Amino acid sequence: MIQQDIKHFQMVDTPLEDIPKIHKTLRETFTSHKTLPIPYRQHLLLQLARMLQENHKAFSSAIHADLGKPPFEVYIGEINPMIDRAIISARRVPEWARERSYEGHADLPEPQKAWKPKVVPTPKGAVLVISPWNYPLILSIQATIGAIAAGCTVCLKLSEVTSNYAGCLQQLLPKYLDQDVIRVVCGGVPEVTKVLELKWDHIFYTGNGTIARIIAAAAAKHLTPLTLELGGKSPVIVDPKCDLELAAKRTLWGKVTNCGQICVSPDYVLISPSALPRYIDGLKKAYEEMYPADQGAALGSDSYAHIINLQHFNRIKGLLEKTKGKVLMGGRMDEERLKIEPTVILVKEGDVLLESETFGPILTIVELEEEGFIRKACDWVSERDHPLVLYLFSTDEQIQDEVRRHTTTGGLVFNDTFMQLDVKVLPFGGVGESGYGRQILENTFECFSYERSTVDIPAAAEEKIILRYPPYTDHSFKV
Ligand code: NAD
Repeated sequence: MIQQDIKHFQMVDTPLEDIPKIHKTLRETFTSHKTLPIPYRQHLLLQLARMLQENHKAFSSAIHADLGKPPFEVYIGEINPMIDRAIISARRVPEWARERSYEGHADLPEPQKAWKPKVVPTPKGAVLVISPWNYPLILSIQATIGAIAAGCTVCLKLSEVTSNYAGCLQQLLPKYLDQDVIRVVCGGVPEVTKVLELKWDHIFYTGNGTIARIIAAAAAKHLTPLTLELGGKSPVIVDPKCDLELAAKRTLWGKVTNCGQICVSPDYVLISPSALPRYIDGLKKAYEEMYPADQGAALGSDSYAHIINLQHFNRIKGLLEKTKGKVLMGGRMDEERLKIEPTVILVKEGDVLLESETFGPILTIVELEEEGFIRKACDWVSERDHPLVLYLFSTDEQIQDEVRRHTTTGGLVFNDTFMQLDVKVLPFGGVGESGYGRQILENTFECFSYERSTVDIPAAAEEKIILRYPPYTDHSFKV
């Protein structure tokens, strides 16, 4: 069944010569105003939801083929939230797109109150979305929902790394949505380079910081506004007074989901010596519960994804070979199936595991002194690149406040990992090295719109503005 779907949905690279034509079509559609009417935007959003609902098995099996991701994880983590958000966006777009009148606003001088001051959320135009492989569906569809809701036309450049998903969307999208409004581009560096030569009205990129610099340079050539959703090393701080067993279980869950290949995956843990033994026991206990030894543990489990490809497998294997840390849990690998066990390693400052985002199932532990632990942990985080998210396990509000004040991170989550992504009314995004711009529902709509201010100054205002006309006289100052 899975094989049948995969065969059916082979990704086809977009011919390079087609890319400028796609760009031209999307521009022409935008300038024709086809995407402006709200009911049409709602229709597109509902069609998107319909496509996901009617083909959820095909999408799950494609992503399973790409990442070994359990179909249940794909459904609850990617497909279901996107159906939900497309439907919510269809319902809310009339409100998001509504013009806001400032007529009679209390802060305005009396005459200006009648100038019909208002702000009209306006679509930016033909936009480009570039998405990565690790959550291929959510990271391509979420931005697309916002762009459609805003009234833009969309070029969607999918990651070539998840080619089964890309092939699936490439074939299904035209069956549900107008090709003049939304187009998929598939392929690797030559295709994306060609796409980036063209002038877009917004670029929304999700991926790593190195490529982000290429995207930002291409955008700068046309002064194109940009959203960058990047990654980094998201830390966990463990207050020694918290429920250590629960903290360990929740951290491990964050680490094993999608085999650690998530931008908000807990990357390393800062902990004090008094808390370390019980925390490690908690990790081992949770691991045994999630992946029982008599059922093959993680390497033999269907509830555990694999590393995306051999290149990334070798990158993580290389880190494990180079680290000088002590393995406290896991460490086994199965190269043939690209699987690496959830692996916990205690390291010292300067270790290779602390250099860049591990983006795999490695949980690095760093011990900091007991005395002044929380402040030392905050300093540790502050001295490094700003992470996408910081996790703090502590129910002490003073400690929560201290950590909030002494760190700069895209998000801050207390007492769990990742659940911020589920709270769909909150904006999501990074700061500094982890990116800029915000997404999810109205926030994504705002990425692809701009606030157009308008005023309409009546002839009757002439009497009130007469003084602005030269020649200026002493009388001008007296009024
Ligand atoms: P990737 O390799 O799929 O690359 C992302 C996109 O960049 C792809 O569409 C690819 O075609 C394109 N690309 C590749 N080479 C390019 C080049 N030379 N020029 C222009 N474009 C090019 O994915 P990735 O970057 O490995 O994704 C993982 C990274 O993304 C991690 O760092 C992760 O933390 C981050 N991420 C961030 C978020 C977020 O929302 N903040 C979400 C998911 C992933």
